[in-house]
Amino acid sequence: MSGQRAHEQPKPQLVAPPVQREPYKYLIPPQSSKDHNKLVVVLDLDETLVYGREGPVRVRPGTAELLQCLKDRAEVIVWTAGSRDYALEVINIIDPFCAIQHCIYRHPMWWTGEIGCTKDLNQLGRPLEKTVLIDNTPDVFRANPTNGILVSDFLGTVFKADRVLFTLADIFDFIFRRISDPTVGSIFASKRIMLRRVPLESNRKIELYTLAADDVENHMYISPAQRSLLQYLH
Ligand SMILES: [Mg+2]
Repeated sequence: MSGQRAHEQPKPQLVAPPVQREPYKYLIPPQSSKDHNKLVVVLDLDETLVYGREGPVRVRPGTAELLQCLKDRAEVIVWTAGSRDYALEVINIIDPFCAIQHCIYRHPMWWTGEIGCTKDLNQLGRPLEKTVLIDNTPDVFRANPTNGILVSDFLGTVFKADRVLFTLADIFDFIFRRISDPTVGSIFASKRIMLRRVPLESNRKIELYTLAADDVENHMYISPAQRSLLQYLH
């Protein structure tokens, strides 16, 4: 071994600085230019569009009509506390029309696992005045109570009287045909929508938009505690 080599200093190990990435700010990719100015309709799955807690997935009447009405006229997002595989399986069943553009499933970016976990629409990166959430769980609306429509629970039994999704499709269709630049205000201006005070998990009450013909208080078959447990099933 030469003296020169003996005095060679080992090369410092080059450690690249960590890549400074912009942290993911939102739960979904930026809005496509073709969707600019459209309403952003966020749909829950379980007990809103389907019932899949046991046995085969049962689809609420009017799901197809609602999705067909929204296709290409709104940006459609599914936001569910269900697992990724379950959510994608259900979407495959209910959406042969490919109306749904994004699916948000259970993920630490939003799912805290706490009772009464909310769906904060600010995490979508979409204009709030254009964004509406349709869900059967009152607590999910807490972050944006004036951007939601609470619907009664669908528990797998098909009632002829369950017109919830048909009525929503009618309201959206009316807006799309008559209003060129619709906002959530256009939806809530409908005479078929009314404000109701409904209980949260904490037993506090919150004022939420509902369908006037949807008796959400008498059709909340699931107690808040049962509802929390159901959120862990998929
Ligand atoms: Mg639900």
